[in-house]
Amino acid sequence: DLIPDDEYKELMNITSPFHINVETLIHVMQVMENSIKMGLDPTTQHKSDLKMIPTYVTTIATKREEGDILALDLGGTNFRTLLVKIRPQHDPVVISEAHIVPDSKKQNSQELFRFISDVLKLFMIRNKLDLNKKFILGFTFSFPCQQLALNRANFLYPTKGWGLQDLIDHDVVEKLQECLNEKQLNVRVTALINDTVGTLIACGYKVPSCKVGIILGTGTNACYFEDISKIQTITDTTVLPLEATQMIINTEWGALGDSGCLDFVVNEFDREVDKVSNNPGKQIFEKLIAGMYMGRLAAEVLAVLMNHGIILKAQRGHQESYRQYSPFWVLYNLQTSHISEIELDTGKTFANTRTVMNKLGLPQASDADCAIISYTCRLISRRAAMLTAAAIAVLMKRLRGSNKVCIGIDGSLYRYHPRFNMIIQRHLKTLAPVLLDYELHISSDGSGIGAAIVAITADQER
Ligand code: ADP
Ligand code: MG
Repeated sequence: DLIPDDEYKELMNITSPFHINVETLIHVMQVMENSIKMGLDPTTQHKSDLKMIPTYVTTIATKREEGDILALDLGGTNFRTLLVKIRPQHDPVVISEAHIVPDSKKQNSQELFRFISDVLKLFMIRNKLDLNKKFILGFTFSFPCQQLALNRANFLYPTKGWGLQDLIDHDVVEKLQECLNEKQLNVRVTALINDTVGTLIACGYKVPSCKVGIILGTGTNACYFEDISKIQTITDTTVLPLEATQMIINTEWGALGDSGCLDFVVNEFDREVDKVSNNPGKQIFEKLIAGMYMGRLAAEVLAVLMNHGIILKAQRGHQESYRQYSPFWVLYNLQTSHISEIELDTGKTFANTRTVMNKLGLPQASDADCAIISYTCRLISRRAAMLTAAAIAVLMKRLRGSNKVCIGIDGSLYRYHPRFNMIIQRHLKTLAPVLLDYELHISSDGSGIGAAIVAITADQER
């Protein structure tokens, strides 16, 4: 009732591509199921959007492990150094520090690993670790790799806006180890894992029924326990423990849609976000969902609404005279964290929405502006959470045989968005297998802790 009828109609029209329903989700599930099957079969793998990468992790921890283990967690935005104290039958005690990776270090692998090694050294000194003592280290590297063993992984391709072209087809463990040696650190990398795997393993340490690990942060991805008999792409089984029957598979589900199979969901705004990204045509599913893109997506829609004179009419007058400050460009500073803030508003006062608009440099947003901005953000994150639910449901269908499935989730989008979890849960009720008992767990810092746990098991198997 804040908005005139004709403007309301136009608003509905412009935002309608973000409305999806259960039928759309079921279609997404079918597309993903097909991709999973193709990805597990060596004859069709090259055509599949989902790479379904074997991780060589075949069990969760026994909880008999013991040691003080270092871990590095390299996400898309954040980089964490961790010291994880693992004691039998106890929850790990974790000391962790977060760092930002400067954009200048995201291009060349040697510069990146030298930077990481320096940060690690300072972390060890700050925490009074004896630099003469030998340490083992688990490395969480959240980019697609072809894993050959726990401590051998060839980099496949960059995502989330990173460069690292020089690292493609090289062993990431070897490259990191070289830089650690160069800095005279007495640290040996015994395992490289994907962040989804870390999340699953860390969650599994607390909840043994954990079978799925999911990341909803800068990017999105998931892994799950698959029967080794169904993974026809494993060629060398000699590196596996004899009793292994299952292995964690890294789905790389962010790439779903790269072949065009999600074109029934992808709209003109998504295409724009894809076009201006570092990797156009790649990681289509990720771009519909993850933290790196959702703010931009909302900005694209809001910019169109502004051009149509539906929002920020008062501010629009300045557009020509102050080009660099024009509200149109300022809109593009909208981040996914702002969307979380906006969605914290309840009722009709829009205090948070107003705060965000002020922060962006768009003061004096009217009540009608705020109502529309908030509606748009909710619509975009609702679609993202619904698509996530569909993807989770597919993995649950594959795990139908289990009695109970716990799903570990890490990443700032999931942790801090006020409604993401609720929307996922609501749609899982319709999409997940009826008889399967499941629960979602936040696995805070799990991606790093898991690397330490895998590193110690890898070391003990030797
Ligand atoms: P990484 O992906 O590097 O492991 P995170 O899990 O912390 O790191 O995810 C960072 C992403 O999460 C960023 O893209 C950012 O947009 C998003 N993010 C940060 N804070 C919030 C928030 N409060 N609500 C929603 N998304 C957020
Ligand atoms: Mg992370």
